[in-house]
Amino acid sequence: MDFTPVDPRTREFVAGLPKAELHLHIEGTLTPELRWTLAARNGIAQRHPDIQSLKAAMAFEAPDAPSYLTKFLAAYYEGIEVLRTAEDFRDITVAYLARCKEENVLYAELSFDPQAHTTRGVAIDAVMEGLAEGRRIGRATHGIETNLILCINRDRPIDTAMDALVAARPFRDEIVGFGLDSDELNNPPIKFREVYDRARSEGYRLTAHCDVDQPATRENIRQCLDILRVERIDHGINAIEEPSLVDDIRARGITLTACPTWRPIDRAPRRVDRIRVMRELGLKVTLNSDDPGLFSSGTLGRMLPAVAVAGDFSDREMGEFMINAFEGAWIDRELRDAFVARTRDYLARAAV
Ligand SMILES: [Zn+2]
Repeated sequence: MDFTPVDPRTREFVAGLPKAELHLHIEGTLTPELRWTLAARNGIAQRHPDIQSLKAAMAFEAPDAPSYLTKFLAAYYEGIEVLRTAEDFRDITVAYLARCKEENVLYAELSFDPQAHTTRGVAIDAVMEGLAEGRRIGRATHGIETNLILCINRDRPIDTAMDALVAARPFRDEIVGFGLDSDELNNPPIKFREVYDRARSEGYRLTAHCDVDQPATRENIRQCLDILRVERIDHGINAIEEPSLVDDIRARGITLTACPTWRPIDRAPRRVDRIRVMRELGLKVTLNSDDPGLFSSGTLGRMLPAVAVAGDFSDREMGEFMINAFEGAWIDRELRDAFVARTRDYLARAAV
């Protein structure tokens, strides 16, 4: 449901805008429809009688951000039970990249959660094989460039984080980045200092989630900067509340991957006012879809027109968000410059 009226001109401008997605959980692209298909293929019973019931069950409410996140993650982990084989990981990746093609998303960094799969008996080889095949098909068929980010689930036992990093060693060349996600409450970044040190020594690019409006979020952002020494932060919006964080993030050129996503209970795209403040403070902020299969906002191209209207972002500002994303992408200089040039050319031709 589009609750924000979007004029056809904005819709057309956004459709043609070259896009990059830096904050996207490939498991979070699982739509109810694909979940149903994979459940049937793998013979996995679903406790909801049909897709409509599943969708209705996903429209839950919660009193605040931390408790919503807990409920959301429970639903998320239940859904990904249907991902069992390399073919499943291939198919979810291809389905997402086909959507990228439709929406002119030229580049996507796909986060994945190995612990969420290996703890239920899915071999890391199956996960990696399926993702690799999906990426190969996505490039060959749709021309989409991708990279992978291995994400640690911060609410699982700490030793399993190091195990996940070690288990990924044979696939090191296929993974560009290392991140931290899942339930932030009582799982501060400092817990993961050792595993981040090791990831850094193995040459991974580093990011970490600092979810919006979590308790201790500003302290957690500080830990990400000084202890994990990340070069990007996923979300990180609450940094605007503390000038010393803003100063350090700006000075270090850190990219913040914001998500103005919305849920069934929301009346408008979320966080757009604070994203505007981030821009005004000179922070490199990008717009991302996070878990488009679970949020009402959907994939990037579907989400952005409503975000432009709700945030009163001009065409030029929308273009600058995408330039920030290409410049913050973990790709080589040549490819990055080509993407940025293509985006600037689009803006010039659109005369914005
Ligand atoms: Zn995320």
